[in-house]
Formats: sequence, structure tokens, C-alpha cells
Amino acid sequence: MSQSSRPKKIRVIGGGLAGPEAALQAASLGCQVTLYEMRPHRSTEAHQTSDFAELVCSNSLKSESEFSAPWLLKQEMRQAGSFLLLDADATAVPAGHALAVDRQQFSMRVAARIAAEPRITVLREEVTLLDEADDDTITILASGPLTSAPLAAELQRLTGSHHLAFYDSISPIVDATTIDMEKVYFAARWDKGTADYINCPFTKEEYDCFLDALTSAEKIEAKAWEELPADRRPEHLAAAPAPAASQLQYFEGCLPIEETARRGRDTLRFGPMKPAGLTNPKTGRWPYAAVQLRQENLRADSYNLVGFQNHLKFGEQARVLRLIPGLEHATFLRFGQIHRNTYIHAPSLLTETLQLKQHPRILIAGQLSGVEGYTESIASGLLAGRYAAALAHGRQPTPAPRASANGSLSHYITHAETKRFQPANITFDLLPPLEEDLRKRIRDKKERHRLQCERALAAWSAWLAQG
Ligand SMILES: Cc1cc2nc3c(=O)[nH]c(=O)nc-3n(C[C@H](O)[C@H](O)[C@H](O)COP(=O)(O)OP(=O)(O)OC[C@H]3O[C@@H](n4cnc5c(N)ncnc54)[C@H](O)[C@@H]3O)c2cc1C
Repeated sequence: MSQSSRPKKIRVIGGGLAGPEAALQAASLGCQVTLYEMRPHRSTEAHQTSDFAELVCSNSLKSESEFSAPWLLKQEMRQAGSFLLLDADATAVPAGHALAVDRQQFSMRVAARIAAEPRITVLREEVTLLDEADDDTITILASGPLTSAPLAAELQRLTGSHHLAFYDSISPIVDATTIDMEKVYFAARWDKGTADYINCPFTKEEYDCFLDALTSAEKIEAKAWEELPADRRPEHLAAAPAPAASQLQYFEGCLPIEETARRGRDTLRFGPMKPAGLTNPKTGRWPYAAVQLRQENLRADSYNLVGFQNHLKFGEQARVLRLIPGLEHATFLRFGQIHRNTYIHAPSLLTETLQLKQHPRILIAGQLSGVEGYTESIASGLLAGRYAAALAHGRQPTPAPRASANGSLSHYITHAETKRFQPANITFDLLPPLEEDLRKRIRDKKERHRLQCERALAAWSAWLAQG
């Protein structure tokens, strides 16, 4: 296409996190965009509204601690003008060192931004065909981990490869007015930041009793798994009979609490129930174990149980969670749940500019591409929107620089060891290490991370400056 002819149209499939960011980026670069979202006509197992940018579980976009990996990713996105991050910053609720948002206000702002963008047309319909032969359109597929079945089948037809499907789970939310405030206390771990978390302290006896109840509680059986055809199960289990719920594939970071508990009697005390640094003002000491509650919305009328995603039957959850000191009479606004997670085998299918190798007019963004997490999904939407805009204008996009957090995520999903590919959050492990002599000289990990961040931001700025 010549530079003077009209740019191609862009079709974005999915109005979750990656899709709206991609659509807004492409529109801001002069492209006409059609944004497809199937809700409310058809919903997913996890979405509860028909809103754009719904946060389906926690309300946290992770750490804002300077020179941490999630901070770096967000800094790069801010520099690049991420629209959804602007909205997240504008709807932040107190959450210590993390960026957490009021989920309703966040979605409302994103919706208003899309409505105000004349280059974006919204179609509320389910897409089931990818039309790879249509060379007038660039497609960004951002239909997420709960991509509807017909579209997943279409993607399978197109890529000829198997999807990996496995499960992770979501944590419960409690009505703030039903927490016994006499038993709990506000504190920040190690007194770092503001004391935004409510802490429920356990004695050893209370912990033992809770653990026994948790590990013996009844789970929901893995019906969804049984319905999954053998060729859509994780490769190493493809030939196996449907496993029990305890054998399902989970993200380590999203392991159900009852599975963590089963790994050993102290595993929870060193994981999501870690008491270290949470001094109880009543005793002046750390409790034996603690459950942390994080504010859900600006009204502070609901809190989520941090790290308490689980797969117990709802009645059992109510019984077991009410053994947590302070939650004896709690009302739960949402119970923990298990859910499906679909993503492509990016190392064999995607280029570093998120294009399908076999069908370069189709880009994959968000969780479906193999990144994991809200912020990572928005970040990949940002990149996909910019890459698609370049393609629409007849240019081949330049990939984000390897040294940056964004570039490292793309590098990981497109270069990971193919057999054991698993979606990833941003961590320093994904960034290129510092040069060996520098590593030898600088023993302090924090200092090394600071240098990695500086190098990443410099590379990212240079890439942005190239336009
Ligand atoms: C239950 C659950 C809990 C999670 N919890 C967390 C968490 O706490 N923290 C975290 O960082 N990450 C979490 N994740 C992972 C991930 O960050 C989120 O799934 C995130 O929303 C992914 O963004 P996305 O834009 O890729 O997909 P989504 O936000 O899911 O957006 C995809 C959109 O596409 C639409 N869609 C699907 N199929 C079609 C179709 N055929 N046609 C049109 N539209 C379609 C869907 O309705 C949806 O709106 C969770 C994931 C799940 C499933």
C-alpha cells in the first residue's frame, strides 16, 4: 500500500483490558477502529457486567514500589500514554504500595473515553470468524482467557495448533460492615506505606483449627475439565483421563488456598497467611498467622481476602472462612471460584510484533497471547494497538526494545522454551541481565534492579522517540 492511500481498517475483538487499550491507541494514531464485545448478549464464566475493562477478580494492578518490575512496566506504559493506566491512576484507592482501583469507576472512565473517540465504533456482538483472507483489515484478537468456544475453535482452525487450557481461581469478597473490628487491626507490613490492610490475627490453636477445616472441606468437582476435549487439555495430560480437581493445572501465583494448605501445615503461614511484619497493636507482637483484607472500592464498604482464591463449594466456603478471627459473622458478597484460562502457544505462533507468523494481519493481545495479569494485558494491548496502526498505514512495526519491560514480556512469550511454555507476569527474570562486570561489581540486588530499570526506561524512551 502506498503511504498516500487510505489506511486499512482495524478490528479489535474483545472489550476487556487489552482490547480497549489497543483500540484507543490505534484510534489516537489516526485509524478507524471497530471494537467488538460479545457481552451482554453472551457472557463468560467470570465477568459480572457488560462493562468495558471489567476487572474480573482482584482490583489491584500490582506494586508501585519504585524500581520493582511491575512499577517499571507501569512507568513505561505511562510514558507511552496508556489510556487505561491514566484511568487507573484517576480511580486509585488506598492500597499501600500497590495501585488498586475502584473497579466500577475505572470501567466507567474507560467506557466514556471510548464513547468520546469518534474513530471507534462499538459493536456488541460475538465474533466467530477471523476472515484471514480479508486484506483490507488488520485484526487484533484480544478476547481473553475466556474466549468464547466458537472463536477459540476458529483460532484453532487458523493456527493449526492446540490451545493450552488450564484453570486458576478467584478470591472471596466480604461486606466491610460485617467484619468484627474489635478482633482485627489496620497495619502495613513492616510499617511500609499507609496502614490500608485489615489484618485478621490467628493464634496457633485458631490456625490449626482453620487448617483442618480448610483441608477437609468439600470442593466443586472439575466438570468443565471433563467437558474439555482431550486435544484442548495441556499437552502432557492430553492422553490422561479427566483428573480430580486437586490435579488440575493452576498458575503458581493463583493456586487455590486449599491446594497450598495441602502442601504442608506451615505452607500458608509462609505464603498468603504470612504474619511477618504485621505487629498487632494490642499485643505488640506478630500473630501466629494472619489473613489480610484489601479494600475493594472507594466507599471502603467491601474487602477482598488477599490470596484466598479457592475452589470450595459456596456453603463450605462460608463455614470455613467464618473461622477466620474477625469474620465469624461475615457476609460474603462474592465467593471464590475456579475458572478456565485459554492462551495460545505464542513461541511457535507469534512474531515479536504480536502478529501471527502465518497470518501477519492478525495480532494477538492480552492474556490470550500468553502474558499473565491485568497490567500485562493492558501493556500488550498498548503494543498491539501501536503495531496495528503502523501496519494499517503500510509500515512494518518495530518491536519494543528487548531491554524494556514491555519488550521483555514480548520477547518471553515469543522465545520461551516451547514445550513448557507458561504465561508470565513481568519479573526481573524476563529482563536481560546486566553486563557481567557490572553484576560482579554490584552485589546489592536492589541496586542491580535500579540499574536495570534505568536501562529499560532509556531504551523505551528511545523507541518511543522513533515514533
Ligand atoms: C477469573 C479470572 C480471574 C483473574 N484474576 C486476575 C487478578 O486478580 N489479577 C490479575 O492481574 N489478573 C487476573 N486474571 C488474568 C487476566 O489479567 C485477566 O483475565 C484480564 O482481564 C485479561 O485481559 P484481556 O483483555 O486479555 O481479557 P478480558 O479482560 O477477559 O477481555 C476479553 C473480552 O473479550 C470478550 N470476548 C470473548 N470472546 C469473544 C468473542 N467471540 N467475540 C467478542 N468478544 C469476545 C469477553 O467478553 C471479554 O470482555 C484473571 C483471569 C480470570 C479469568
